[in-house]
Amino acid sequence: MPEQAIILYIEDNPDNQRLVQKVLSANGYSIAIAEDGTDGVTLARASQPTLILVDLGIPGLDGYETTTRLRGLPHLEAVPIIALTADSTAGSRERALVAGCDGYLVKPIDPRLLPRQIDEFIAGKREVVPADAEAELLRVYSRKLVERLEEQVRELSRANAELKEIDRMKSQFLATLSHELRTPLTSLVGYLELFDRGLLGELSQSQRDALSVMRRSGETLTQQLNNLLYFQELRMRKFVFASVLLQERLGPLLDTSRHRAAQRQIRFEVIFAPLAPLNADGSAIEMLLRNLIDNAIKFSPSGGRVLVSLRDEPEAVLIRVADTGPGIPPEAHEKIFLPFYQVDTTLARNYPGSGLGLAIVRHIAEAHGGSVHVRSQPQQGSVFTVTLPR
Ligand code: ADP
Repeated sequence: MPEQAIILYIEDNPDNQRLVQKVLSANGYSIAIAEDGTDGVTLARASQPTLILVDLGIPGLDGYETTTRLRGLPHLEAVPIIALTADSTAGSRERALVAGCDGYLVKPIDPRLLPRQIDEFIAGKREVVPADAEAELLRVYSRKLVERLEEQVRELSRANAELKEIDRMKSQFLATLSHELRTPLTSLVGYLELFDRGLLGELSQSQRDALSVMRRSGETLTQQLNNLLYFQELRMRKFVFASVLLQERLGPLLDTSRHRAAQRQIRFEVIFAPLAPLNADGSAIEMLLRNLIDNAIKFSPSGGRVLVSLRDEPEAVLIRVADTGPGIPPEAHEKIFLPFYQVDTTLARNYPGSGLGLAIVRHIAEAHGGSVHVRSQPQQGSVFTVTLPR
C-alpha cells in the first residue's frame, strides 16, 4: 500500500462515513469525505486521491453521474473509482461499470473485507463489462442521462419563471406603493411649506418650530420614496442626455439645501465656478447631488460644515461634497455603494435612510461614463467625489 494513500469517499450517510473512516484509517489510509456529488467533484479537482469510493444513492448529482463526471477529469484517468451501493438488483453492477466505475462493492460494508478490497483496486484490479453487452448498456445509460437532464432543465425553467413573476409582482407593488404615497405627500409638504413661510397666517414660535420639524420629515420621506422609485426602475431606466448648464440646473437644489442646513445649524458653503455646458441627464445629476448633500447634512452634527464644490477639469467635471460628520471606516468604503448597505445596521440607528442613496449615485455616475469615490476616516468627516467625463 502506498505510504500516503488518500481515499475520497463520496457519501451522505453519516453512519457509513464514520464506519469507512474508522476502518480505513485504522489501515493507514487518509480519508477525505464529500457529502454529495458536486462536493466530491470539487474535492477531486483540487486534490489527487489514490482511490475514489462513491455511494451510488447520493442526492443531487447521483453516484453514476458523479462517476462519469470524475472520469472526465484528466488527472483522475488512472485513479480507480469504486461504486458502493445497497442496490444489488440484476444489472446494477453493469450500470455502475458503464458509467465509469472500476469496481462495485455491495453494502452493508464488511469491515473485515473492505481494506483488502481497497488494496486490490489500488494494486490494479479492474472489473469490466462484457464486451457484447457494453454498447446496449451505454445506450440505455446515455438515454437515462438525457432524460434526467431534460427533467432538470424543465424544473429550473419552471423555478426561473416563478422567480421572475415574483420579482415582477414585488417591483409592481413597490412602484404602486411609492406612487400612491408620493402623491398625498407632495400636497402635505406643499401646505407645510406655505405655513412655514407664513403665507397662511401668523403662527406662534412653537407652532413654527413644530411645522419645521414636520416639513423636514416630509422632505426626508419624499426623498426616500424617490430613491425607492428610482431603484425600482433602475433596470428599465433610460437616461436623456442633453447639453446642461449645471449652475442653472442645480441652483434651486443648492438653495433649498442651504436652507435645510441652516435649520440644523450647519454651515453650508458652495464653491461653484461657472462651468461649460455638460452633456448629461440633468434630472439624474440633480438626483445624484441631492443624495450626496442629503447624506452630508444628515450625518453632520449641529455646528458642522458641508462644502459643495463643482469644478471644471480639462477632461471632466468634478463634483465634491465634503462634511464634518462621523466619517466612514475604511473597510466600508466599497460596501456603502451597494444597495441597502448601511454602516450602522441597528434599528436604533440615529440616521434615517434606506441604504439606496449611494447605490443610485454610483449608477448615475457610471451611466455618464464617470465614477464616484469616497475619502474618509472615522471622526474626520467624509469627502465624496464624482467625476463626470466630458
Ligand atoms: P442611507 O439612506 O442609509 O443614507 P446611502 O446609500 O446614502 O444610504 O448611504 C449608505 C451608508 O453609507 C449610510 O447608511 C452611512 O452608513 C454611510 N454614509 C453615507 N454617506 C455618509 C456620510 N456623508 N458620512 C458618514 N456616513 C455616510
